[in-house]
Amino acid sequence: MNRIRLKSLLFKVRHFLGLATTSAVAACFSTTATSTAMEELKTRVCIIGSGPAGHTAAIYASRAELKPILFEGWMANDIAPGGQLTTTTDVENFPGFPEGIMGVELTEKFRAQSARFGTQILTETVTKVDFSRTPFEVVTDSKRVVADSVIVATGAVAKKLNFAGSEKFWNKGISACAVCDGAAPIFKEKALAVIGGGDSAMEEANFLTKYGSKVYIIHRRDTFRASKIMQSRALSNPKIEVIWNSAVEEAYGERVLGGLKVKNVVTGEVSDLKVNGLFFAIGHEPATKFMDGQLELDSDGYVVTKPGTTKTSVRGVFAAGDVQDKKYRQAVTAAGTGCMAALDAEHYLQEIGAQDDKSD
Ligand code: FAD
Ligand code: NDP
Repeated sequence: MNRIRLKSLLFKVRHFLGLATTSAVAACFSTTATSTAMEELKTRVCIIGSGPAGHTAAIYASRAELKPILFEGWMANDIAPGGQLTTTTDVENFPGFPEGIMGVELTEKFRAQSARFGTQILTETVTKVDFSRTPFEVVTDSKRVVADSVIVATGAVAKKLNFAGSEKFWNKGISACAVCDGAAPIFKEKALAVIGGGDSAMEEANFLTKYGSKVYIIHRRDTFRASKIMQSRALSNPKIEVIWNSAVEEAYGERVLGGLKVKNVVTGEVSDLKVNGLFFAIGHEPATKFMDGQLELDSDGYVVTKPGTTKTSVRGVFAAGDVQDKKYRQAVTAAGTGCMAALDAEHYLQEIGAQDDKSD
């Protein structure tokens, strides 16, 4: 099946099931990672991750004839192969697309370009790595890759909040992806809320006005951190109302979400907000847990890289994209660091003399 159709089918099935988790739906479709014997592969560059960073690294590494192997994941961290852009609609700020381009379509183009130059793309999630000795090891449920160098480009995942009822109504009105879930029938013509004050919150609130009767943005401060253009789009939308200086204390309802108790963090006053949908847009967590502390991370879990390079604390392991960037976190900056990682890896391979054809 065509990959774009498979991804949109996943979304449709989620909506049909009334917000079943992506992973549950993915499990129904997953036939790729169930083989019994461990297959062993060798490569000079193994790339983990399939967003703009991973695929840009793959384009450069494959054009340098390094025959990279790229693990694109299978619903890794609940995100489709292709990364965060698969969860959004129009991407308007990636150069080369003056009319904008749909997120899923852009990721398909990245993938096609990697494949065109010979990247071996494997639809499996990396569960374990061994960076303690060279060559490095990268392991999935069915494969063990022995690699002279590794590029980590696993991106980031949406954060969730914990308050009374947040678990109970998860996927029953509460979600962390408006683009994936906003069109579900339970939200149609209902009052909805988004928590956050960044670009995601602005984008998701605007998006949700297509479905909901009204959209509240609940923000813990009295100013947004979102870019000016995104803020003004949200603030000028007549269906959007901002609830400043506020935090959700409780979600309540019967079978599905019926409303929220919202506390004004300045006055302490708690008020009732009748909404049937709540979307977290409070930022992301870098996908670094599978490396089990083998790379130096900062206090927020992002991979630490040497400034001006993609070098990590382990020589021969490089990091690119959102997994090492908590400041810019854009598709184009992820792609830029993906390019840097491939060039850094190529120089490293030259240094250690691993230029012979060792790939399977
Ligand atoms: P990601 O896009 O996060 O992709 C990494 C992917 O690698 C994962 O999603 C997963 O599929 C895979 N993976 C993870 N772990 C593993 C593993 N263990 N094994 C194998 N595979 C794995 N930026 C813009 O420039 N313009 C926009 O308009 C824009 N809109 C956005 C809208 C939303 C809703 C969001 C959430 C973000 C948006 N961004 C936008 C930011 C942009 O999507 C990210 O900066 C960019 O995708 C980061 O790319 P990345 O390659 O670092 O990783
Ligand atoms: P950000 O980290 O930029 O914003 C997160 C927001 O959530 C902040 O306003 C923060 O509040 C709030 N928040 C964080 N934790 C909590 C909490 N525990 N309780 C309540 N609120 C909380 O994340 P985004 O996902 O918005 O953006 C990530 C990156 O993706 C950015 O670089 C952004 O530019 C990019 N992006 C770009 C888009 C575009 O260009 N079209 C669209 C979407 C994202 P506070 O401000 O008080 O810290």
